[in-house]
Amino acid sequence: VTAPRGLTDIFDTLTYRERYEALVEHVGRDGLTGLLHRGRFDADGEAAVQVSLRTARPLSLLIIDVDHFKSINDRFGHAEGDKVLKAVAALLREVASPEDQVFRIGGEEFAILSSCPHSVARLLGESIRHAIKASAATSRFEFTVSTSVSSVSETTRCLADLFALADQRLYKAKSTGRDRVVGEPGGHEADTAAAWTKSARI
Ligand code: GH3
Ligand code: MG
Ligand code: MG
Repeated sequence: VTAPRGLTDIFDTLTYRERYEALVEHVGRDGLTGLLHRGRFDADGEAAVQVSLRTARPLSLLIIDVDHFKSINDRFGHAEGDKVLKAVAALLREVASPEDQVFRIGGEEFAILSSCPHSVARLLGESIRHAIKASAATSRFEFTVSTSVSSVSETTRCLADLFALADQRLYKAKSTGRDRVVGEPGGHEADTAAAWTKSARI
């Protein structure tokens, strides 16, 4: 027979439970922005790619990188740079669909995993680009982002394949002037996904 538990015990139990729930909520999240972190990107991203391959449902990856972010730090200070990162994170969450996963995968690099086809993901990229410009216009200084888009296709085997393609395209966005969205040349990955659905490998 256990002794009746006092109020203090109950209080402790609740406190620990609350602490536990708060901890669970924070696991896998980046401290500065509250977005999912790189570890979650690697794990959830790989799982999402495998589901997409199995079901032939579209999956697109966007990588969003703040342009000349180092110069924001240099000119306005690290604290101001942090504010920009928080603002970008909030904006990405706002523009993305509730089902999309939004990650901070590096210092000033973000990623979105979305179950939309390539053409729609490009439009999402454009929405982000315009929303950043609109919000930056009302702040102390202007900044832009470069975005790349890649989508699961017949040539995708794993997250690394999808990421390598997006990485190449981000490099292209940077080298061709920044403040732009770069996807599949000609934008045919969407069509590929549609054709691919017909021959679903289940
Ligand atoms: P690019 O247009 O080619 O992307 O240039 P960039 O300056 O944005 O890229 P670069 O990789 O040269 O610099 C990224 C900078 O981001 C350098 C680093 O000090 C800064 N940074 C990384 N993490 C944080 C952070 O958490 N807070 C702040 N304020 N700065 C950060
Ligand atoms: Mg950058
Ligand atoms: Mg970068």
